[in-house]
Amino acid sequence: MPHVITQSCCSDGSCVYACPVNCIHPSPDEPGFATAEMLYIDPQACVDCGACVSACPVGAIAPDSRLESKQLPFIELNAAFYPKYEGKLPPTSKLAPVLDAPVVHSRPDGPLRVAIVGSGPAAMYAADELLTQEGVEVNVFEKLPTPYGLVRAGVAPDHQTTKRVTTLFDRITRKRGFGFYLNVEVGTHVSHADLLDHHHAVLYAVGAPNDRRLDVEGMGLPGSGTATEVVAWFNGHPDFTDLPVALDHERAVIVGNGNVALDVARILTTDPDALARTDVSDHALAALRDSKVREVEIAARRRPADSAFTLPELIGLTATHEVVLDAADHELVQQDLAHATDALTRNKLEILAKLGTAEAPATRPRIRLAYQSTPHRLLGTDRVDGIEFTVTGSTERRRLAAGLVLTSIGYRGKAIRDVPFDDAAGVVPNERGRVTGAPGTYVAGWIKRGPTGFIGTNKSCAAQTVHELVADYNAGALRTPSARRGDLDRLVRRRQPDLVDVAGWKAIDAAEVARGGDDRPRVKFTSIGDMLTAAADAPKPSLRQRLLATLGG
Ligand code: NAP
Repeated sequence: MPHVITQSCCSDGSCVYACPVNCIHPSPDEPGFATAEMLYIDPQACVDCGACVSACPVGAIAPDSRLESKQLPFIELNAAFYPKYEGKLPPTSKLAPVLDAPVVHSRPDGPLRVAIVGSGPAAMYAADELLTQEGVEVNVFEKLPTPYGLVRAGVAPDHQTTKRVTTLFDRITRKRGFGFYLNVEVGTHVSHADLLDHHHAVLYAVGAPNDRRLDVEGMGLPGSGTATEVVAWFNGHPDFTDLPVALDHERAVIVGNGNVALDVARILTTDPDALARTDVSDHALAALRDSKVREVEIAARRRPADSAFTLPELIGLTATHEVVLDAADHELVQQDLAHATDALTRNKLEILAKLGTAEAPATRPRIRLAYQSTPHRLLGTDRVDGIEFTVTGSTERRRLAAGLVLTSIGYRGKAIRDVPFDDAAGVVPNERGRVTGAPGTYVAGWIKRGPTGFIGTNKSCAAQTVHELVADYNAGALRTPSARRGDLDRLVRRRQPDLVDVAGWKAIDAAEVARGGDDRPRVKFTSIGDMLTAAADAPKPSLRQRLLATLGG
């Protein structure tokens, strides 16, 4: 009964360190880790202890006998990562090398104080890593009253198991030394210099909030937009509640075929009754119930072998949705199969080859994967009524009627005030997380390495940054904060009286879960005002707690 890693694998590697026989790979210190689409359990080496199940923050691991039918392909997928041992015992019993926890050398001028800007996975993993050390203080600043970044506003609502990583994040908020300054915008309420006055170091984990824009005629017409805006809309992000999403035509087109494109296509073609059992926003659910969309085309400019979506996501999608290809694209799949050498690409192509053809009548809203389609221009005068592609590598054009055209061509980092920025790469220039030319300033996550990888990839990314930060602190390279420990709270409350702390977030969280009742995991608040009203129900700190905070205790 070996254990199996399935679709929602977040790659944070917690399972690797929990496994007593080192049967989960690639591990964060192995060369293939950075590019792996998921982690895999060696079925011959697994001793079925279940330690990985407890360690996994997203519930992605189960014994092979307990998998749902749609998860069965993952048995072969895990096994295929490992060589066949042919009767010999697999090379187990080697404990995975655990990254050294950063040892903070305490100094007479008080404990290490770090401000983290942003509260998504990279921020929370960095906080976790720092708080492994006694006495360290971490203050997390987030401009929304709710934390966890793309886990809350980016993960599709039908991927609830992935969102379970928030249980781990909530645990981190309860650690001694952790503080939340939610609803506080760095650059508006407090500056970079303010943060440096109150901390030894500032670590930016602000992600890559902008979309990469497609510069073709017609973008900007009503009916055009970006997949990431739509993701924020169906996830109830307060800035996107009024986003117009044109669902009044039978076809929508998504340009680009990464995992974000798959997420959006899935939500646009999922039965709204099934979505109604998730935390999808009520405004999106109502719009999806009235939707006329019967087909979503996901258009890639390159060939099937170059598909940007990952294999686990493709397996998950084809298990639950009708996914088809035109005959010409099936032909491309066969051509690519004849040349594909690496196992991952072959696996993807073999799944694509088994999909139905678009010529067959649709039985329900479906997804069509299209290839060699370079967007040329959007069609329409007052609003989008179609898109024209160039067949990649030729001058041939292909037109398609559609009422909604979304680009899903990746994210882009945004410059942070008072911090260096590499505009060409869309990241903050850094070496192993240490910002170039800005002492005391660090980065982790997408603003450090660009918009790639999965939630858990940020764990090793953040750990690397924290190691550099602690090394600098231990070497005496970080300036001692000029302000007293207790002054920060007073300063921020003066500038932003509506700040939300850990207790406030707990109150919002509890209220949202209660609104979900028995049928839904939660019903999110989608207005800042409602979030603040819920936060106001949090128990007020006692006189003793307030006094301790002022004294920095
Ligand atoms: P992505 O994986 O980088 O895919 C971007 C897509 O846009 C590619 O198909 C790319 O095609 C295409 N593209 C780029 N520029 C284009 C242009 N000018 N014209 C036409 N097409 C263009 O980006 P993403 O989907 O935004 O995902 C970002 C990261 O988040 C990825 O690491 C992804 O795996 C991760 N993510 C994971 C999950 C999950 O695990 N469930 C969910 C969402 C996101 P080319 O390949 O030809 O450049």
